[in-house]
Amino acid sequence: MKWEDNIRKAEPYVPGEQPQKKGIIKLNTNECPYPPSPMVEEKMHKIAYQDLRLYPEFPEKTQLNAELARYHQVKEEQIFIGVGSDDVLSMAFLAFFNSRKPILFPDITYSFYDVWAEIYRIPYERKPLDEDFGIQAADYKGENGGIVFPNPNAPTGVLMDVDAIEEIVRANEDVVVIVDEAYIDFGGISCLPLLSKYENLLVVRTFSKSRAMAGSRIGYAIGNEKLIRYLNDVKYSVNSYTMNRPALELGTEAVKDDDYFKEICGKIISTRERSKKELAALGFTFPESYGNFIFATHERVEAAEIFRKLKEHDIYVRHWNKPRIHNYLRITIGLDEEMDALFAALREILNLE
Ligand code: PMP
Repeated sequence: MKWEDNIRKAEPYVPGEQPQKKGIIKLNTNECPYPPSPMVEEKMHKIAYQDLRLYPEFPEKTQLNAELARYHQVKEEQIFIGVGSDDVLSMAFLAFFNSRKPILFPDITYSFYDVWAEIYRIPYERKPLDEDFGIQAADYKGENGGIVFPNPNAPTGVLMDVDAIEEIVRANEDVVVIVDEAYIDFGGISCLPLLSKYENLLVVRTFSKSRAMAGSRIGYAIGNEKLIRYLNDVKYSVNSYTMNRPALELGTEAVKDDDYFKEICGKIISTRERSKKELAALGFTFPESYGNFIFATHERVEAAEIFRKLKEHDIYVRHWNKPRIHNYLRITIGLDEEMDALFAALREILNLE
């Protein structure tokens, strides 16, 4: 059809499955197995439904911006909020990656980056991780139109130290460097302190993992005021009221409850460390993970086969049929009892009974 020639064609990001079936063990999309803070639940009952007829608070001056600024000890003008970090990252790609030179990101990384680059027509180059799935700072020093990577990286869980990140940010002061800290709360060290030294750094965070609120779609970025102003200008050129009122209110409560936040992160970290031992005993190897997931490969049985058989046990993990990682499974850290069910199913699948 002729009209089809004039269409912007996209190959969309494919998220992990969200099966509706009851009773399954869902370890495939890095959600938090614990509920959000009880303060969030309490607030939910108090949200005035009549207020839904009004637009949300003024986009840059919401209670959530203020609470996040307080939490991170930065100015409100340094916070940008959005509908999940996917929205934040997408706006950041649109705003900051506007050069003819390619942006750089790892070959194995969050698989939304190349999707945004394609849809916004941003040239890009993938830099191969080393054999241990590490990001090499030296690869990010050539001419480029901007840089983005998660820390810890996804789906590998590998953490980069702040000195290596600083090396990249310092070597690229003429472009914006985005560090996607979606998984930083599970034992990693954040690069946020670098913000006081470098204007070209944007740090992106999400409520979907460590704050147990994937369903409310909240993400944010922290950067210097000027950078955030540019980001807001682009956002308000697309849609200024992206966050909804309940999400703003519930997100604010979540940030206030720091004790609960630390408690659930601590639980996930200890389950992860125990899971590493269990998986190793079953014949899996994996890079040291600092995320709420483990990226594991088995010494004997193909990942695709394990993936399929786990599904038959109603246990969902993530598998990508992609170069370099096709023999790996990304296993989200669930509740202790969910992990025990996984280990039992694996023993059966691997004939280790
Ligand atoms: N960055 C990384 C590295 C992720 O794995 C995810 C989760 N899919 C996101 C960003 C987006 O998360 P959300 O939009 O739920 O904040």
